[in-house]
Amino acid sequence: MEKSSISIFDENYKQIISNIARAAEKSGRKYEDITLLAATKTVDVNVINHAIKSGIEFIGENRVQELLSKYDDYAPAHKHFIGHLQTNKVKDIIDKVELIHSVDSYKLATEISKQAVKRNITMDILLEINIGEEQSKSGFCYDEAVEAAQKIALLDGIKIKGLMAIPPICENSGQNRVYFAKMKKLFIDIDTKKIDNSSMDILSMGMSDDYEAAIEEGANMVRLGTALFGRRNYNI
Ligand SMILES: *Cc1c(COP(=O)(O)O)cnc(C)c1O
Repeated sequence: MEKSSISIFDENYKQIISNIARAAEKSGRKYEDITLLAATKTVDVNVINHAIKSGIEFIGENRVQELLSKYDDYAPAHKHFIGHLQTNKVKDIIDKVELIHSVDSYKLATEISKQAVKRNITMDILLEINIGEEQSKSGFCYDEAVEAAQKIALLDGIKIKGLMAIPPICENSGQNRVYFAKMKKLFIDIDTKKIDNSSMDILSMGMSDDYEAAIEEGANMVRLGTALFGRRNYNI
């Protein structure tokens, strides 16, 4: 079973590299300008380590429990947290990841600040934007994002490095372009404000079904699970 997961990855990875390169070129950039993060939920750590050996440098987990259980076995890689994070779990992951993509409330940011200060570290974060204004999703609304960035940037032990979004599920990737374009505009707007303690370096958007559109619209980090590792056998 593992052998086939590995060959699935090998085939997909090659194809994805060329897809990313093509999408990057369409938006006047190069493959090297885009960071490919492997979303590794439900993926066996042996397969993850094969991916790392093959060139994947960034991995992201979206569940605290899963991150902790795999943590000691990962090959060296940049580890990110990408899923919804409960405030009471911040202390479990704060010293284990380099970037938290999913800061979706002021309350969560305050807890990250508190735990970072306690350990005398600075935690890099992205603000999650609920770009489709969906009830079912968390994140800051487009209209409150600038104010949220200004407020969160004042917290000790935190540095805002950019924005993250998960747009609504669409029938085809083209429909998400308007959301990706809106995110790019917001990214530039916030950058223009030159908020202390904040730099708009990372625009994390685009998943397996829509990463090429996301890159063409300005994403510089894409988070891919299914496209790299094949279908998961249960829904997350
Ligand atoms: C699972 C996950 C992804 C990757 O999803 P795929 O559709 O499998 O590529 C990206 N971002 C987050 C936050 C995820 O939880």
